Amino acid sequence: MNSPTHSENRSDVSVIGLGLMGQALAGAFLKSGVPTTVWNRSAEKAATLVENGALLAPSAAAAVQAAPLIVVCVTDYDVLHAVLDPLTDELRGKTVVNLTSGHSDGARETATWAAGHGIAYLDGAIMAIPPVIGTEHATLLYAGAQDVFDAHEAALASLGTAAHLGDDHGLASLYDVALLGIMWGVLNSFLHGVALLETANVKASTFAPFANNWIGAVTNFVSAYAGQIDEGAYPAHDATIDTHWATMVHLIHESEATGASAELPKFVKELTDRAIAAGRGGDSYAAMIEQFRKPTK
Ligand code: NAP
Repeated sequence: MNSPTHSENRSDVSVIGLGLMGQALAGAFLKSGVPTTVWNRSAEKAATLVENGALLAPSAAAAVQAAPLIVVCVTDYDVLHAVLDPLTDELRGKTVVNLTSGHSDGARETATWAAGHGIAYLDGAIMAIPPVIGTEHATLLYAGAQDVFDAHEAALASLGTAAHLGDDHGLASLYDVALLGIMWGVLNSFLHGVALLETANVKASTFAPFANNWIGAVTNFVSAYAGQIDEGAYPAHDATIDTHWATMVHLIHESEATGASAELPKFVKELTDRAIAAGRGGDSYAAMIEQFRKPTK
């Protein structure tokens, strides 16, 4: 590990919020040799970081004063504002990178608040868990002005792959929830498959390699369908929605016959029924996008 050097209590970055994620973030900065100041409401959570070279600020104000780049990772945006709103004088001219999870409205409102106080602002989202922060397995998403991102990209790279999404501060939150939705979709489908196969005494760990192989194959569909969606044309080069529909009926039958839950495939079939009713039965599965653009409930 490189040993960070601090001069006159100045650091390159201050990390505010040392929960599970904030500790990982500060630890990754330190491991990369970035001089780091930390502050947390409960100071004891800084102990290991201080052993590893972090400076512990006695207050959030002192943490802000200690560095030009302020990385914040707290529970939610209300907490972020509770901590930072009283510190606008100290923050003026500095950069806040907010890695707290939230929604796009909150991100845009916080960006407006920051701009009103002369604070450069990036809104971020962390697509990783604490143990992989600082490794190639961590991707962090950033939204806000390109020049602000460029100025801090080298330091932010300490945390994992840094992806800049664009000027709109709401983008990081939107990507975050969109990606988490994919995770839950995949995991729920996997769990449903496990429940089905358990009825034939197949263990989850036996099914898992087949599931993973298939998830890999589905990534090819995602790439192909993204192009069709962007073009607004859905030629069925692989399978029609009608063909998918017939197989969904098999899945519902198997679920009901084995006593597993049929809720998830029934919901998917309901969406597909609507697409077929709208005349999309002969199109590729990409045409199902219309069911997500137009909520019916
Ligand atoms: P956590 O362990 O619960 O930490 C929450 C942090 O917020 C702590 O530093 C806590 O301080 C601080 N905090 C809460 N209320 C506060 C208040 N009123 N005033 C000052 N500080 C306050 O949560 P976490 O896992 O680190 O998550 C932090 C953020 O990262 C969340 O937005 C989460 O969604 C996001 N995130 C987490 C993960 C993950 O895997 N953990 C992954 C992606 C994104 P105290 O220590 O004093 O309570």
